[in-house]
Amino acid sequence: MNCRRASQGYKKGSLEEKSAGDRNRCPIFGLDLITDICNKRMSKNKANLAFLKLIEEAQITPSFDEQQAHGISVKRGSLEYLEATVKAGLLPKETACKLWAKSIGHAYYNPLTSIVTEEARQKLSLEATRQYNALGLYFLADVLTVAMAEPDNLETITKLESCAGCKISPVFSLPCEIFDAIKVHHSNIDRLSQSVDTLEKSENLKIAGLSRDNMSDFIQSESLVSIFDTLLFLAIKEKASHIHLEPHKTMTQVRFRCHGRFVNQLKFPMIIHKALITRFGALCGFHPGEKGFSLERGSFTLGLGTGKASFEVSFLPCLHGAKTVITIRLTKTRHSVGSLQEMLIATGNLRQLEQFASSRQGLLIFAGLPGDGISGLFNAMIKEIASTSRSIHSLEDFIEVEWPGMTQSHYNLDPSNAQGAPALLEAILNQDADVIALRGMNDEATAAKAVDASLQGHFVLATLSANGVRNALLKLNQLGLRSDISAAALLGVVSHRLARRICNECQTAYQPSAETLQKYFNDWENQTVNFYRGEGCANCQNSGYDGHVSLFEILTLDDRVRAIMAEKLDFLGSGSEELDLNWQPFLLDGLLKVLLGLTTVEEVERVCR
Ligand SMILES: [Zn+2]
Repeated sequence: MNCRRASQGYKKGSLEEKSAGDRNRCPIFGLDLITDICNKRMSKNKANLAFLKLIEEAQITPSFDEQQAHGISVKRGSLEYLEATVKAGLLPKETACKLWAKSIGHAYYNPLTSIVTEEARQKLSLEATRQYNALGLYFLADVLTVAMAEPDNLETITKLESCAGCKISPVFSLPCEIFDAIKVHHSNIDRLSQSVDTLEKSENLKIAGLSRDNMSDFIQSESLVSIFDTLLFLAIKEKASHIHLEPHKTMTQVRFRCHGRFVNQLKFPMIIHKALITRFGALCGFHPGEKGFSLERGSFTLGLGTGKASFEVSFLPCLHGAKTVITIRLTKTRHSVGSLQEMLIATGNLRQLEQFASSRQGLLIFAGLPGDGISGLFNAMIKEIASTSRSIHSLEDFIEVEWPGMTQSHYNLDPSNAQGAPALLEAILNQDADVIALRGMNDEATAAKAVDASLQGHFVLATLSANGVRNALLKLNQLGLRSDISAAALLGVVSHRLARRICNECQTAYQPSAETLQKYFNDWENQTVNFYRGEGCANCQNSGYDGHVSLFEILTLDDRVRAIMAEKLDFLGSGSEELDLNWQPFLLDGLLKVLLGLTTVEEVERVCR
């Protein structure tokens, strides 16, 4: 058993605020987090003078005092210096990495956010990728492009060429990004199943079930930690928003939610379920009682490249044990946030969103459920607003993107806490903010404060956990807001869902039946209209789909709509046709994207259901 290895990288962060010292301690072992791993990976510690000159010219060189404040004591201009200053936020990552790459005559590539093809990954064995901290990215014209921390190291390149059996074209990546990308891209379901099978047959598993002490040893064992880590990295690789561990009588079902769709992964024996959730609990800082876990929520984070992944864990006691759902959120760089203009939004909807972004006051709601991609739309909207010179303050339960020039606060999930969202909103009102971005308006006190702020002349944009625009309006009422008050405050409600996009490589047109046309387009039955679908090819693994397309639902409030809403809150239920251009439901946007060949009518039906 290797306790030091097993504790690496995790940071506890339950829903309570943690002191800085607390955050740096591992919850299971009480050991300080091991930070020397990067140092071991980087043999060379020499200063890159060309890089220092480039950052000086770009006027982004961190001052000595800033370095001291972040405890950065590595050699100035070394690769370790680049990684440490980027991690500390003293150098802008994209710019600094591109300048480093330029200084050594190579391109920069982030293997955690860019394409890594399966073919390229397999060209180098796991042993070789680990030994040289190098990852195959893509294979084109018999040349393998490889992410390396030292792309000018000819000795390593020669060794990698002999391993891969082909020519290698190296690109520069940060050592920590390659190291974590190897874990993510080498996680697969077969490896996970094999590890589970091996563990199931081992003696350790039988002993673990005997007593609580044995279990606490077992959850630190290398075999269990390996399964645990592979599960997390596999979920990150699959871009899952949630992991579900559902206990049944004899086994537990593991499922991922990916882009809003539920995907079965594999089944575990019950004893492994028990061990995995005990480990999840321990990382969040709580332990099962005599009868297992009670209703509990917590979270922990894991460093990933220069950012981090946050895992929010929720336990619900059920007949055969605690059902455990893990919500995964990854920090993003502002450069990886797409703009509104890149989101394939229908022209009318795009104009409306741009108009919302220029608002001076009022409340704009972003309604969606986890996995709907609402967070991506919210970020794109912030990006749009950030391009205007206004004072923006964001309130977030998890800081997903660090925005330059914007004030960001992290709030406590308990609304009655002194650091809860209502108290912080009150404080922001005294700080002369033009725009308030609130991620999560899901309790009465927070909703009341947000409405209050918008009525006082601030522009508030807030996410609300609700399935579509109509439900969002009902939810406002459930949060104790009178319909006339909501109507007075609201600028609009925007909702977003993801539909699978037809694969570009195998897209074909077909003519829908007269009945289908009649169902969606009242008087089109005699028209010749093309719908599209993917026939299935190697690119889309025969699914006919590749990637996603956004569907939007937008309600815009003007005086006429406000008057209708003040009278009757659920006005979208019937007679909504009279709202004309103020109301753009999902179905309308979906059908437009069917006609454009972006998605299928079956996907639109599934998403709009
Ligand atoms: Zn295809």
